[in-house]
Amino acid sequence: TNDFGIEKSLKNLGITSENYGVSAGGTSFGNGAVIESFSPTDGKLIAKIKSGNEADYAQIIKKSKKAFQEFRMMPAPKRGELVRQFGNKLREKKDDLGKLVSYEMGKSLQEGLGEVQEMIDICDFAVGLSRQLHGFTMHSERPSHRMYEQYHPLGIVGVISAFNFPVAVWSWNTALSWICGNVTVWKPSEKVGLCAIACQNIIAEVLKENDMPEGISGMIVADHTIGQKIVDDKNIALVSFTGSTKVGRMVGAKVAERFGKSILELGGNNAIIISEHADLDMAIIGAVFGAVGTAGQRCTSTRRLIIHESVYDEMKNRLVQAYGQLKIGNPLDENNHVGPLIDTDAVKQYEASIEKCKKEGGRFIVEGEVLSGNQYASGCYVKPCIAEVENSYEIVQHETFAPILYIMKYNTLDEAIAIQNDVPQGLSSAIMTQNLREAELFLSHAGSDCGIANVNIGTSGAEIGGAFGGEKETGGGRESGSDVWKYYMRRQTNTINYSTTLPLAQGIKFDL
Ligand code: NAD
Repeated sequence: TNDFGIEKSLKNLGITSENYGVSAGGTSFGNGAVIESFSPTDGKLIAKIKSGNEADYAQIIKKSKKAFQEFRMMPAPKRGELVRQFGNKLREKKDDLGKLVSYEMGKSLQEGLGEVQEMIDICDFAVGLSRQLHGFTMHSERPSHRMYEQYHPLGIVGVISAFNFPVAVWSWNTALSWICGNVTVWKPSEKVGLCAIACQNIIAEVLKENDMPEGISGMIVADHTIGQKIVDDKNIALVSFTGSTKVGRMVGAKVAERFGKSILELGGNNAIIISEHADLDMAIIGAVFGAVGTAGQRCTSTRRLIIHESVYDEMKNRLVQAYGQLKIGNPLDENNHVGPLIDTDAVKQYEASIEKCKKEGGRFIVEGEVLSGNQYASGCYVKPCIAEVENSYEIVQHETFAPILYIMKYNTLDEAIAIQNDVPQGLSSAIMTQNLREAELFLSHAGSDCGIANVNIGTSGAEIGGAFGGEKETGGGRESGSDVWKYYMRRQTNTINYSTTLPLAQGIKFDL
């Protein structure tokens, strides 16, 4: 049988049949429960992981605290050099890691490789940034005084990540954290623990080659209980959380309670407005890829199409036609467009959402179905489906992490923008139009209320150069490019008096 070279890739990544899930960069360990990682592509057991428990977590934190004392004193461009080497090692391992992402998570091989490419890109970005962590200088109101601001490292950054981007999200956070002088502790999703172990093996090699202490990159594969420890731990200066709005709401509140910092990257409910001025050939590609790519399991997946009434029927027909051509099957096989959902729980949620949509009055123009048969033996494969709905349905207001696309009609652009904004989430949005006025209105302050707003591109597939994240129940956090690095540092304002007197600000006199 064709295993798509998985065995060899696992070996190249240092994954064996039994692995330890805890590491500070030295010898791995793990004293918690055994986690078995099954592939949603074929249902087979990939490998076992001895997860981390609370005592293991305490060890990791101890090492991280110690390492921070040293790491923060290393010049930022030298830290950048570590990240440069890390990026190079990722280039060497790209094929193996991309394949593991595809096999353990279930996204297409192309998307798995794309995730690793994002890791490489953020490393390149961070290397340049390591020489540019600059603040402003400003003029003082007092004579012979100088004022400026500078950015200092925070300490330990905790990264809690979701299953759907098993490797990229970690690197967005760590590449920036490290050049900023922070050490990191990662609690990956327990559904994709092997991807985390593979990543940790790669960075551990770089750190060892450079004689760096343990504790710069910590990892603890474990369930939510260790996530909760990170959230409550005063040692963790910043918690970067990527996951559902349900969990993120709790994480945000708890971290705020102890005055910690947080970056929240939560659920989306992303729409494309397809105007009567759209290039429909482009619109159909953007819409279908956005809705079915990663089997609808991207935070930026297209969940809603808001279509102008004059092109509604044509778009509807073309969507039905396009969905009829989709090939569903093993994501490691390049001929397939759509892979599996992450697990059978996700399949149940898909089925429940379809039921709910029908109850609320949704009319399915492409029916959903759970697929069975030999090549679908994992029980995780579902058919992407499309329903005509009202935006106000409860199910449409909710993010279902599966390939269910909701379509609806509009008459004026103001109406379309109102529909697009009328959901609790605010991550990604797009308009397909060749009309400048429409595009500019959509991007204006009267337009999309999302963190990401695109013209003639779909909702998914962001580049690392921009700040990534969303508003409202998406959590308000930003990761990756632009000036996001500032979240990973503390800002300090400095005033220096080089005169022989001590004048007070605002002209206040205080004579002794
Ligand atoms: P999830 O919320 O179930 O889990 C995310 C992580 O949180 C996991 O590591 C999990 O173990 C941990 N966790 C669970 N309960 C916890 C608790 N009480 N305290 C601390 N940690 C806890 O999410 P998921 O199913 O893995 O991922 C899918 C969700 O993630 C979707 O909603 C998706 O939109 C979102 N997501 C958002 C972005 C973004 O950038 N906005 C990116 C990827 C995924």
